[in-house]
Amino acid sequence: PVYSPANDRYTCGMKYRRAGKSGICLPEISLGLWHNFGDVDTLANGKRILFCAFDRGITHFDLANNYGPSYGSAEETFGQVMKSSFLPYRDELFISTKAGHDMWEGPYGNWGSRKHLMASLDQSLKRMNLDYVDIFYSHRYDPETPLEETMQALVDIVRQGKALYVGLSKYPEEVAGKAYSYLRAHDVPCLLYQGRYSLLVREPERQGILAQAKANGAGFIAFSPLAEGLLTNRYLNGIPEDSRIARGGHLKKEALTDEMLHKLWSLNAVAGKRGQSLAEMALAWLLKDDSVTSVIIGASSVKQLEDNLKALDNTHFSEEELREIEEVLK
Ligand code: NDP
Repeated sequence: PVYSPANDRYTCGMKYRRAGKSGICLPEISLGLWHNFGDVDTLANGKRILFCAFDRGITHFDLANNYGPSYGSAEETFGQVMKSSFLPYRDELFISTKAGHDMWEGPYGNWGSRKHLMASLDQSLKRMNLDYVDIFYSHRYDPETPLEETMQALVDIVRQGKALYVGLSKYPEEVAGKAYSYLRAHDVPCLLYQGRYSLLVREPERQGILAQAKANGAGFIAFSPLAEGLLTNRYLNGIPEDSRIARGGHLKKEALTDEMLHKLWSLNAVAGKRGQSLAEMALAWLLKDDSVTSVIIGASSVKQLEDNLKALDNTHFSEEELREIEEVLK
């Protein structure tokens, strides 16, 4: 059957936030395709998740050249869905990709050279059946390539019409400062900084990345907001067979120390008092701050996605709740 999106997708509860000083408006919850959309995964399940997301107002999908596994296969999955179902809605969608991590062999298959960025984006566009992406990121800082080369490649990619906007991911604060300046001086401002941020990973606050994005007119978008599943009920009672840890994903069982489990149970109790699941509270906690434009979640099922969307029902925290959370995490 032909996919036709829910008519109430923009009135069913999703809110949109502006990224810094820009025309970019992102759903508070975005969907990432790092895990669960590769050729090792079930295509039908991936499609269901993508359709449910768009039906619920999730208009931003976050990809990268090497998401899978295998490398490139998440973009291929997305490209199939683009072609079969999403094409009529292209102008409603905000699609990202990135280059900078390991992708193909040899010195140009990785990092921040102009050669890598240009070639990688061309490959990504083919896999995704797109003429352009909405935002293209330098996926990580390359200390060996001059920053100016990487930034000029981003500028030229926009000039070529292959991306509408550009962003930075995981750049250390000091280099990010120079990158913001370079891009602004070349009239292609960096409008999104993508960083790991969750209750368990606080660096963007502590290292000034959030404040820096704001000061530069950029939005901040948080990845792994559920700490890859730790901040959910997934591992509270062991390691389920179909979980990221058991399936050999990026998250390792070594992360589940007794101390971590104790924290997760305590956070779960705070969430319970708020009438939320741990996952809902973890997402709500990030969204309480208006300098966070969106959170990019992963989901291995429609059910997880739907559970996570409930976070939007309450993103307000009392002083007491915030204190309790800090007490658990200290
Ligand atoms: P999350 O922290 O949201 O973790 C997602 C995982 O948590 C799911 O795959 C699932 O794991 C589990 N989960 C999610 N919701 C629930 C729920 N309600 N109940 C129980 N378990 C749940 O994000 P990711 O680590 O997946 O990262 C999200 C996105 O961020 C990526 O897809 C990518 O787009 C981006 N990213 C960017 C990076 C960068 O360098 N810029 C790096 C990493 C990610 P399970 O498989 O166990 O079901």
